[in-house]
Amino acid sequence: MAYGSKAKEFYQNELKNIATAGLSKEERYIRSPQGADIKVEFPQGAPEMEVINFCANNYLGLSSHPEVIKAAHQGLDNRGYGMSSVRFICGTQDIHRELERKLTEFLKTEDTILFPSCMDANAGVFDVLLDREDAMIADKLVHASIVDGMRLCKAQQYVYKHSNMDHLKEKLKESQENRLRMIITDGVFSMDGDIAKLDTICDLAEKYDAMVLVDDSHSTGFVGKTGRGTHEHCGVIGRIDIITTTLGKALGGASGGCVSGRKEIVDLLRQRARPYLFSNTVPPVIVSAASKVLDIISRTTERRDKLEKNTLYFRKKMTEAGFDIKEGIHPIAPIMLYNAKLSSDIARDLYYEGIYVIGFFFPVVPRGEARIRVQISADHEMTHLNKAIEAFTKIGRKYDILGKNKKEIIEKYGM
Ligand SMILES: *Cc1c(COP(=O)(O)O)cnc(C)c1O
Repeated sequence: MAYGSKAKEFYQNELKNIATAGLSKEERYIRSPQGADIKVEFPQGAPEMEVINFCANNYLGLSSHPEVIKAAHQGLDNRGYGMSSVRFICGTQDIHRELERKLTEFLKTEDTILFPSCMDANAGVFDVLLDREDAMIADKLVHASIVDGMRLCKAQQYVYKHSNMDHLKEKLKESQENRLRMIITDGVFSMDGDIAKLDTICDLAEKYDAMVLVDDSHSTGFVGKTGRGTHEHCGVIGRIDIITTTLGKALGGASGGCVSGRKEIVDLLRQRARPYLFSNTVPPVIVSAASKVLDIISRTTERRDKLEKNTLYFRKKMTEAGFDIKEGIHPIAPIMLYNAKLSSDIARDLYYEGIYVIGFFFPVVPRGEARIRVQISADHEMTHLNKAIEAFTKIGRKYDILGKNKKEIIEKYGM
């Protein structure tokens, strides 16, 4: 009874510590397809509630789009369920390469390689491209999957303060002795919805002879005039060497990711990236549906434009109602509440008003920066948005936070 004697107790204790710290994550069961209107069972065992969803990454509303579902069925019918192989043995179909070509065209890069997820793309990319004598220079707030990818790579690590270009410049000077250097950033940062200063980053990269990698998971499909991402928004198309992104958010939301960028880089990843070589091929049903998503968003910017309109409307109305929102243009709209308990209390009250949102607090965001992260979708209609604004206003009034600034909220509720 090796497990029973020691490990069981150890893990039970860990779980208890997580619970005591108030950090247990409880999953809510959704009993409908993903969309603006969903049916949720929460807490587990409670009667089902119909709520409006404001916390999915379903930015373009394509997760349950009829054309996408139809394409998924076609993929299943025409190319089967699973590949039972990695890409380089017998797991590459024509449609995999076709999707890579479509992604390349959409992102305006040179080539693209699919991964099982963006987490896998980030896990594989650094170790292949950089070695001991090289340098990775990363924004302090990059996504966890980039942090993990960097841990798997032997190159020297430098970290610059979030979006602080002077500090980045310092790090570039400090790393002059390294052979190859790569600046690493998220395109959009998921907690604040702020956009990396890619124009300055590219200027610095050129001046100091460094490559640039951008993880555009929260941008691909809708940021920029035609939705290509933060490189389009910042006017640096063609200057970003490596884009990593996901198919699991705006692009249909199933799973899958990719690295898109310079041809040699993609070629080398196909030879050496471990999650590509040693994890199974993205299944045909996803490839076929993702391919349709790219057709849809290449054909028209209608969804992206509606998302932009929805976002600006929601941000404006919520600001007018007296909420403290982090400024920006991204459909991630952080409603700042500062106090952790306040953020979860308000999220719970909103749930019973039919609005599904989640409170975010330490350790997901810094202490004293608790918030409700609202995510707008092109699936939201005006009626959805207005219902949310009304409910927020009602609950905001209940907690007496409307029109109050950070200092006043903290005075009332503490950090
Ligand atoms: C969501 C996300 C990922 C992970 O993408 P998956 O395809 O779900 O693995 C990676 N990076 C960033 C910045 C993300 O937001």
